[in-house]
Amino acid sequence: MTPAVEFRGVSVRFGRTTALSPLDLTVARGETLAMLGPSGSGKSTALKALAGFVVPSTGRVLLDGEDVTALPPHRRGLGVVVQSYALFPHMRVEANVAFGLKARKTPRAETAGRVAEALELVGMGKYARRYPRELSGGQQQRVALARALAIRPRVLLLDEPLSALDAALREDMVAELLRLRAELPDTTLIYVTHDQGEALALADRIAVMRDSKLVELGPSRELYQRPSTEFTASFLGASNLIPVELIQADGTRVRLGDRELAADPSGTFRAGQPVALGVRPHRVGITAADAPGALPAVLRGVQWRGTGFRLDLEFAHDGNEVRAEVPDIDGLPNVGQRVGVSIPDGCPLVGVG
Ligand code: ADP
Repeated sequence: MTPAVEFRGVSVRFGRTTALSPLDLTVARGETLAMLGPSGSGKSTALKALAGFVVPSTGRVLLDGEDVTALPPHRRGLGVVVQSYALFPHMRVEANVAFGLKARKTPRAETAGRVAEALELVGMGKYARRYPRELSGGQQQRVALARALAIRPRVLLLDEPLSALDAALREDMVAELLRLRAELPDTTLIYVTHDQGEALALADRIAVMRDSKLVELGPSRELYQRPSTEFTASFLGASNLIPVELIQADGTRVRLGDRELAADPSGTFRAGQPVALGVRPHRVGITAADAPGALPAVLRGVQWRGTGFRLDLEFAHDGNEVRAEVPDIDGLPNVGQRVGVSIPDGCPLVGVG
């Protein structure tokens, strides 16, 4: 099937700055793709090249197989929502939502129905006559979403749409977006964020961006469980990267202190390159110092996190640090005490440095 969106070698330079290195990326109809990466990694630039707000220095952008590189934004049929809701303050909600339809010269009779439909989709049907200043931040962002949906876009582009909202509201909005997603199965969604939680919750696939480049692309769960780069392992879920030695050159067995462990060589590493196990803090076990199979370590710090504790530990064999997250239990060891650390078999192995 023809992909909904294709980037073919799309790069963007501003003077001497490379904002986007040549990007090749295909997004299927109805798919949700998250572009995830730290600030300045080129996510928004990729989105702007797709929407037509910046002109690529090289490459082509295709929508449903059609080359739209030379088309102005309003001829691409995309819905766009950005961080700052950008509603017109002097217009009522209904006029804001109708804006894109007016620009496209949609007949008046049809406009009313489409506005009502879009507001219903985001649960804002009752607020059509309000002004933006009479709404909360979350409600304003819903209106911005309704405005983007009113034109019935084939592709919806969301650029950090929740960044301006507080944490509790962001979680509600993620739930809301998932509901919307289910109601619009044919709409393709591209979601730019630096928040790995939002990306994991919403996306079918995640494109990890760093320094203007796409560094890794894959189904969300796979990237989380089997990251193939050090960057993805640490950025997507804050893994420990525990230095180990290869016992087997293919990366299936490694040595950590005086232990041997099975590893999952998901990542790429060169012969002779240092390697590390990516271990999520909740998979690090704490035992008595003399428990069989445990690695001796010293507890360096404890932070209570409400649902449990974060423990900062130092391996006795090499002095490296490792972080554990354990449930809220009684009988935690004291800071400075010797404990045992257990690392499960099968953690992903990545090249470092
Ligand atoms: P992100 O969305 O990941 O935060 P951006 O795509 O906004 O990153 O930016 C990527 C790089 O391009 C950054 O170094 C940024 O400073 C630069 N950049 C973005 N837009 C412009 C512009 N209009 N002029 C000059 N440099 C820009």
